[in-house]
Amino acid sequence: MERVVIIGAGQAGGWAAKTLRDEGFTGEVVLVGEEAHPPHERPPLSKDVLLGTKPPESTYLWPAGLDVDFRPKTRAVALDRAAHRVELADGSSLAYDKLVLATGARVRRLEHPGALYLRTIEDALALRAALLRQGSVGVIGGGWIGLEVAAAARRLGCAVTVVELAPRLCPRVVPPVLSDYLKRLHERQGVEIRLGIAEPPNADTIVVGVGVVPNVELAEAAGLAVANGIAVDAFGATSDPDIYAAGDVASRDGVRLESWANAQNQAIAAAKSLLGRKTPYDEVPWFWSDQYDVNLQLVGLPKAGHEIVLRGRVEEDRFSLFFLEEGRVAAAASVNAPRDLRIARRLIELGRTVDPAALADETRPLQTLLKNP
Ligand code: FAD
Ligand code: NAP
Repeated sequence: MERVVIIGAGQAGGWAAKTLRDEGFTGEVVLVGEEAHPPHERPPLSKDVLLGTKPPESTYLWPAGLDVDFRPKTRAVALDRAAHRVELADGSSLAYDKLVLATGARVRRLEHPGALYLRTIEDALALRAALLRQGSVGVIGGGWIGLEVAAAARRLGCAVTVVELAPRLCPRVVPPVLSDYLKRLHERQGVEIRLGIAEPPNADTIVVGVGVVPNVELAEAAGLAVANGIAVDAFGATSDPDIYAAGDVASRDGVRLESWANAQNQAIAAAKSLLGRKTPYDEVPWFWSDQYDVNLQLVGLPKAGHEIVLRGRVEEDRFSLFFLEEGRVAAAASVNAPRDLRIARRLIELGRTVDPAALADETRPLQTLLKNP
């Protein structure tokens, strides 16, 4: 194998390239990315970079000097699978032996002239400039973007209203008990939350965070299997054995994860697998969000019907929720309790039945549950 081409120089594409070198691949690695920046992480864009406590360059993924043929501001426009070639917007094309699709996702747009969005470094800098004017901010969408932007806007002295179409915040990912907690948290900080409402609020700045759409068009046009995202197996392989996919764009059994941990670790597994070192990606899903002084983390996928056990005190902004399925921990959420979450992850991996009373009992250290089946 002489050349691996990676399309998409985001977090997943960046990790795929780095992993090929870490694993000792000596052929050519070509990384094609539409953005002007080297591969970088997006989480700080709605946190430190938006607040101005870290510069955009702090998000860059690699040390300088990684041996990768990186082509910024370059868009791939078509795949010719039979010829093993990628066509680029400038009319040139690149041959590949193996290809990685890491094209990620783009924001869903609303018909709202002048509204700001948040996905890229440029978006974050434009939004920061608007927030620094300290006027009123109306946020459409009570998901992660909406809530993290609301928190940053309050910190920067703006009056903030959030409207969410659903009857509760973050309805896709968190159970009602956490939606209610997040609503109280933001209201305490002076944010007005309006639920079940589609009309945009009246405000100097409108920010839209109503989800993302996976960039599957290249794959679809080339006839790869697509199901909510580019369909991959446990190793990141698509329906074409020479093409892998990872990150926000990839879906497994119809499930697509949109998180930092998934972008990194699925890409690492896919890059190893395409080199022939078959590495399944089987991690329990995990993500976090920082809002004000609250660090929220979620491991596993909570479902309606799970038995919920509370440990700690909600009113003190320090608690964990365990989601049990047939007596086993299937998912957990923590608020300012990252240690609980680490143990919850182990409990999920072990798949052992646990006593709900022991989970709730704060006088009993959680790690004892790891030792005593
Ligand atoms: P992307 O980051 O979307 O990168 C894909 C890249 O491919 C883009 O640069 C795009 O321009 C490029 N591309 C697409 N099509 C082409 C083409 N045809 N040719 C060339 N290039 C192309 N997750 C968490 O777990 N915790 C957090 O706190 C968190 N905070 C976040 C905050 C913000 C503001 C955002 C936007 C996301 C956040 N996430 C968070 C989610 C996480 O950042 C994403 O899941 C992750 O960035 C996905 O990485 P990716 O490489 O798969 O996709
Ligand atoms: P999101 O988490 O999917 O939330 C979008 C929210 O907007 C949903 O609650 C959605 O409700 C709602 N919505 C949809 N259409 C609406 C409308 N017309 N009016 C009002 N509300 C509407 O997506 P996001 O917050 O936009 O985030 C974008 C991406 O960045 C995601 O991949 C997200 O995971 C990632 N991100 C992650 C973090 C983190 O993990 N901490 C932080 C920031 C961003 P329905 O679900 O009912 O449609």
